[in-house]
Amino acid sequence: MFVRDPCGIICIIVTYFALFYADYVVMRWIILHTMQDSLWGPFHVVLFNTLVLLLMMSHMKAICSDPGVVPLPQTRMDFSDIHSAGSGGSDDCEERDDWSVCTRCETYRPPRAHHCRICERCIRRMDHHCPWINNCVGERNQKYFMQFLVYVGVLALYAVALVIISWMGECPECSKDIPTKQSRILHSVILVLESALFGMFVIAILIDQFQAILSDETAIERLQGGHSHHYHQKSRRTLTLLSQVCGKGHPIFWLLPCHNPPRYSFRRDDRLIHHEV
Ligand SMILES: [Zn+2]
Ligand SMILES: [Zn+2]
Repeated sequence: MFVRDPCGIICIIVTYFALFYADYVVMRWIILHTMQDSLWGPFHVVLFNTLVLLLMMSHMKAICSDPGVVPLPQTRMDFSDIHSAGSGGSDDCEERDDWSVCTRCETYRPPRAHHCRICERCIRRMDHHCPWINNCVGERNQKYFMQFLVYVGVLALYAVALVIISWMGECPECSKDIPTKQSRILHSVILVLESALFGMFVIAILIDQFQAILSDETAIERLQGGHSHHYHQKSRRTLTLLSQVCGKGHPIFWLLPCHNPPRYSFRRDDRLIHHEV
C-alpha cells in the first residue's frame, strides 16, 4: 500500500536528505578530520552507520507495512438509509455494539478502527496519519513508527556528542588550514541545528506515543474523549501495554525493525464479508 499524498512524499524526501547530509558531515568533516589517527574513528564510523541503517529499515517498514486496513466487503451493501439518516453527524459512523459502520468505505469496522481521509480507508487502532512516513500509524506499524523515532532521537544526540568531542580533540595541523576549518565550522553548526530540530521534535512525539500506549488510548480516542472508556484497564502493567504494540518477544528485540509484530485477534473479520444489513 503506497499513499499518493504530495505532502507525505515531500516529507520522505526531506527525511532522507537530512539523514544523508548528517551522515556526510559526521564522516567527512568530523571523523575524518579529528579521529583518523585513533581507533575511535572506525568505531564511530561503524556505530553511526549501523544506527543509520536501522533508522532506514524501521522507516521503510513504517512506510511500506499495512497499518491495519479494514478490508472492504466483497459484495456491496445497501447503505442508503445510513447516508440519509446520518447526514447531520460530525463523525461518519453509527455505533452498533462494538462495531461501527463507515459510510465512506461502506463497510463494518471493528472497535477502535477509524477512517483516514488521506488513505481513504478505515485503519484498525488508528493513532494518526503521519506525513513523515506517508502512512497511517495504526495497530500493525506503530512499533516501526516508534523505532524510527527512537533512532532519529539517538542519532541526533550522537551527532551533537561527536561535534563536541571533535572540538575538544582538534589536531594542530588541521586548524592551520583556514578554508577547511571554516567549512568544518559551517557544516558542524548546520548539523547541530538539524539535530536539535529533529531531536526535540521526535522526543516530543515519543513522549506522546508512550503516554498514549500506557493509557491504552490512541490520539484519536483522546480527542474524542469518553469514547474509549470501555478499553481502559488501569490494572494492566506497563510491559503488557507496550507488548501490545511492540510484540510478544523479549523487550531486547523491540528495537529491531525485523521482528514482526503480533497479528491481532480480530478474527471476526469474516463478519465484514458475510454480514448483511
Ligand atoms: Zn472508512
Ligand atoms: Zn492515513
